[in-house]
Amino acid sequence: MSDLAEIILELQRCDTVLISVHKSPDGDALGSQLALMHALEKLGKSVTAHNLDPAPEIYRFLPGSARIKTGSPVAGRYDAFVVLDSEPSRTGLFDGRYPADTLIDIDHHITNALEWKLSWLDPDASATGEMVYKLIRGLGVAIDRNVALCLYTAIFTDTGSFRYSNTSPASMRISAELIEAGANPWLVTENVYESYAYRRLKLLGIVLAGMERSEDGRIAWAVVTSDLYQQTGTTAEDTENFVNFLRSVKGVEVAVLLRQTAEAQYKISMRSKGRVDLTGIARSFGGGGHKNAAGGVLYGALEEVKNRVIREVDKAIETQVGKVSVIGHGRYC
Ligand code: AMP
Ligand code: MN
Ligand code: MN
Repeated sequence: MSDLAEIILELQRCDTVLISVHKSPDGDALGSQLALMHALEKLGKSVTAHNLDPAPEIYRFLPGSARIKTGSPVAGRYDAFVVLDSEPSRTGLFDGRYPADTLIDIDHHITNALEWKLSWLDPDASATGEMVYKLIRGLGVAIDRNVALCLYTAIFTDTGSFRYSNTSPASMRISAELIEAGANPWLVTENVYESYAYRRLKLLGIVLAGMERSEDGRIAWAVVTSDLYQQTGTTAEDTENFVNFLRSVKGVEVAVLLRQTAEAQYKISMRSKGRVDLTGIARSFGGGGHKNAAGGVLYGALEEVKNRVIREVDKAIETQVGKVSVIGHGRYC
């Protein structure tokens, strides 16, 4: 039996379901979570959505987002616990003991360690939302406007608005169906990409002004310190996608954004243009992700952490792309 078929059977048997996603949830995590919540409720199940961190403001338009509980610990026991868009440990909610007998993990990160027996992993899915779409279909639930809006947001954000290399015929076809089912693309765009806090753009200006690159121009990086958050009245959620600006520089193979999360602790976000696989570096930091988008957390003083990442990225570029290093080289076939 396929993992999907087994998950469908398990969920059909359950009455109470807890759904969680990774720390610092993004559009794919939240859209997938809320879509599955609505679908399971249509089947008469009692569903609790609970994450460690609150939903960023730009995702609060998603139907049901106000119902997501946050913080730790999680109360109660459930028939099933479903983790979406990450491995269970990255929910940050439990220490290896979970409040359900049936444990289900649905994810598209190739680095997922498959902690649970019932882990459905599809690294070819553009977004977890694409997998949840198949699950909802398999459960025989009609896709209404709310579910469509949530799943469209999941796929739209994880494909970088259908621009990244994970954009596929399947992600386009499913998205077309979701629009037919009532998802309004502009509503999603306006909320997610056209409603930034003023302070966010001010912060972006400062971060880009501080951008640096390696001598050969193949690595670009920038840093957001706790002091800078304080000065500008911003938080980490105001920096989502900043790293993509760094990658957009001509000649850059890999971009790195370092965001301070504590005194000697930095969240590392890496983006590749496609010729360098970042999963190895992310794994070596105890993190994970995809080939072209990966991350993790590093501990130490800023200079030390920064040099370590740049050194690792430089090594990866040299082994995977070669030694040629010309700033501003041309386009690729
Ligand atoms: P970010 O740079 O935080 O947007 O993350 C890039 C990609 O790597 C996303 O798909 C994340 O889900 C994944 N990722 C980031 N941090 C981790 C981590 N600590 N463990 C596993 N995956 C991660
Ligand atoms: Mn995610
Ligand atoms: Mn995802």
